[in-house]
Amino acid sequence: MKVLLTIVLSLITSNAFSFSLNNTVGAAFSKNTVPVNIADNCTNLGVSSAELLSMVSDAGTMYWNTVSTSRLRITAGSVVSVDSKFYTDKVCTTNSGSCEPNTDLTVASDILITCNGDTTDNFPNAQKTVLAITIPNNISDRTINGALIAINDRSDNIFQDQSRAKMVSVLAHEIGHAVGLGHSPVGDSLMYYTLVPVRDRLGWDDIDGITYLYPREQPFGCGTIEDINNSGKGAPLLFVLLMPFLLIQLLKLRDRFSHSFS
Ligand SMILES: [Zn+2]
Repeated sequence: MKVLLTIVLSLITSNAFSFSLNNTVGAAFSKNTVPVNIADNCTNLGVSSAELLSMVSDAGTMYWNTVSTSRLRITAGSVVSVDSKFYTDKVCTTNSGSCEPNTDLTVASDILITCNGDTTDNFPNAQKTVLAITIPNNISDRTINGALIAINDRSDNIFQDQSRAKMVSVLAHEIGHAVGLGHSPVGDSLMYYTLVPVRDRLGWDDIDGITYLYPREQPFGCGTIEDINNSGKGAPLLFVLLMPFLLIQLLKLRDRFSHSFS
């Protein structure tokens, strides 16, 4: 029985932690509400900056903001102007397995979505179907200060071919990377490594991952729960708990009186 329990627990454990992180320190934003800003620099994406901002809002509402056990809330920020390097430069200076972020593209705070048309390093012909590259590129200790999402803006990008719902799920997936999550091997996850036909909500693995990085804290104190079907029945229980104390007091009184009158 003991062995069986161990096996069951290990199955639960491996299932609960099949999500991965996209950095080695488990970094997360310290703030609870993280705005996502849109760089006004897309030329081939097929959607306006205002529409992208609207999609970001939906990515928060439909996906990440639905997790009651997570403190993280994603909001639509602003349309912003950025340096032309965000469109032309590579996101990573080295890209052999892990990414060394290009410090010229460091995002000072929050999440920035930029278009990028670099066909040399970011989106070469061999990877022209890559939708976006995302990296939290401003991390101090275990805190993410800023993260960059670079959307493929090649003239033949495949982002423009997606439905609006699919675009929202792609942005939600990239936001997942921006806040610290890696890929999940679980097929029904938003953070699954490849696009699936329909994904309109988070999977359990996404919920586990975001709750791990952004646990909702409960105020310090005793956790209480009230059984509304038994309200008013607490008094007898209190009496039972106080019985030993009352008995001792009665015995003391008896002793006192017996001493006085003897
Ligand atoms: Zn991904």
